[in-house]
Amino acid sequence: MNLETCIKKLGYVGILTFANVDEYGLPQVRSISAIHYEPDAIYFFTARGKDFARQLLNDGHVQIHALTRYKEMIRLTAIARPAPLQEQEHWKDVIFSEQPYLKNVYPRDTREIGIIFVIREAQVEYFNLSEHPIERYYYATEGLDAIRKGYVIGDECIACGTCAAHCPQGCIDEGEIYHIQPEHCLHCGNCFEHCPVQAIERIG
Ligand code: SF4
Ligand code: SF4
Repeated sequence: MNLETCIKKLGYVGILTFANVDEYGLPQVRSISAIHYEPDAIYFFTARGKDFARQLLNDGHVQIHALTRYKEMIRLTAIARPAPLQEQEHWKDVIFSEQPYLKNVYPRDTREIGIIFVIREAQVEYFNLSEHPIERYYYATEGLDAIRKGYVIGDECIACGTCAAHCPQGCIDEGEIYHIQPEHCLHCGNCFEHCPVQAIERIG
């Protein structure tokens, strides 16, 4: 798995869930399919009059979520910005040719009410629930750090083995200090709750 493959898989899913917050800080979720994928960017279309466009123009932070048929979860934490003015018509042409249904929704010249946003910066989480142990990876576009979340075991560990016995994924290695394999961890917290000496720390 890698960042490029994650983006490709988003394209295969087709309809993505976009989450952002409104002016009151309340969650808002939309399904968007008017999307075009480039190797280094994701372009999408919405109408300027929609709350979604207004909210993105106010604060471009967005999370995008997809679940593949193979129980792979892909989540982008990203910033959406309006595409440059001189590129707006080009990306509308591209998206409307790839998504013919849009001509029914915005016939004739009514697509002029549309606005193209572009995402170039993103942190990506990939989570595959169909494998055992599960797989979890983090990626980021250039200039951003990958997200780091989950649990780690610290020097206070007395190697009692309680955490490993309670781990549903069997992803804790024995040792003088036990070790959690981050790429297989569910983040369920069962180890954290059972450690007798509070040697496990939640991060992120
Ligand atoms: S339960 Fe705590 S002390 Fe015991 S092995 Fe796990 S981390 Fe170490
Ligand atoms: S958080 Fe859950 S899956 Fe991860 S190491 Fe702890 S018990 Fe195992």
